[in-house]
Amino acid sequence: MAPAARTRRDAADETPTHAITHAMRIPFLRPSLPRTEELAPYLRRVDAAGIYSNYGPLARELETELLRRRFGGQGAVTTVANATLGLMLAISAVKRPGRRWAILPSFTFAAGPLAAMWCGLKPYFVDVTPGAWTLDEAALDAALAELGDDAAVVMPGATFGTAMDLSGYERRRAAGLPVVVDAAPAMGAGNDGMQFGRGFAGAVVYSLHATKPFGIGEGGLVYSADGELIARIRRDANFGFNAERMAETPGLNAKLSEYGAAVGLAMLESFAQRRAERRRVARGYAERFAASGLEQRGWEAQAPAADCPQFWPVLAPRGRSNRAVIAALAQDGIECRSYFAPACHQQPAFAAAGRGPLPVTEELAARAVSLPFWEAMTEEEMDAVLEALIRWG
Ligand SMILES: *Cc1c(COP(=O)(O)O)cnc(C)c1O
Repeated sequence: MAPAARTRRDAADETPTHAITHAMRIPFLRPSLPRTEELAPYLRRVDAAGIYSNYGPLARELETELLRRRFGGQGAVTTVANATLGLMLAISAVKRPGRRWAILPSFTFAAGPLAAMWCGLKPYFVDVTPGAWTLDEAALDAALAELGDDAAVVMPGATFGTAMDLSGYERRRAAGLPVVVDAAPAMGAGNDGMQFGRGFAGAVVYSLHATKPFGIGEGGLVYSADGELIARIRRDANFGFNAERMAETPGLNAKLSEYGAAVGLAMLESFAQRRAERRRVARGYAERFAASGLEQRGWEAQAPAADCPQFWPVLAPRGRSNRAVIAALAQDGIECRSYFAPACHQQPAFAAAGRGPLPVTEELAARAVSLPFWEAMTEEEMDAVLEALIRWG
């Protein structure tokens, strides 16, 4: 395989679960970012302005346009260098002082609990629901009963771009429990044209990483209906500097460069088509899966609840390991992944974390297989994936 293709796959490799020793005919994903020609007008603007960072004109325009187009102008946003830093800044801004625990799902990407640890908190893992694979609010209540007054923040996650219902979290937040939503894969997700997260007065953190629906390479966006919270996070992302350039809060540098913002502005031009593409591929898989007979053999499809899915995961039959399925499909040159396996509580960095019962998480970590998924995936490629799944499944 050509070196360029290998590089693309490596760049997408967030959680390598096994060694892939030969070239894949159908990779797990092909990041699709604006091409040089689409970027050129924006790069010329960077040249002309001579400003390269520090919330320059392109970053400000990207913020304004995302707020207007995705959030209907309601609330406030600030760009960040990546979602992990966005999560750290948001947790640091809202956490209850002197409390120890960040409550979050184990069925998520490691960035969430890592960000909590960088804020001096200990992760406490709670199970997800079997239907939506998002934080189980009954299990959250049990965790809150267990931890008493020692919960600093709760961090639900919009798993694979699922537009989860935030009304329960809005109530909890208003009652004094700070909420940071890890919406990393959910830029573009929502219902009825309304961006997921809009109107929420806690912090909602989106990733603009190359492997996410709105990919610019590295980048992120923090949204809140609370403009003061965003102003605080924006200041903290610039060393905590006040108007006199005095560090006032424990800030850090999490600013998005003007080059990143240039990619974001170019991305905005094609984002509606890209979202439609993701829906087309999700529909294509759903139709093929329904017609495949796999359900009669114990396979289950996880219907994406959002209109801009990040991945297309299925569950292997009970007792069948996703690792074995992934290894089998790799023999056909088809690269699948096991998001999120291992789950966070199974990873060494979180050995000291607290946890409630995690039966759903452990079952998903053992059975979930994410199929290859990207915009512009052809019907023939989807056919090949399903044929291999039927053959090996
Ligand atoms: C991608 C992702 C992150 C990390 O985002 P970065 O921008 O790469 O830091 C965090 N949480 C979840 C759920 C993700 O999918």
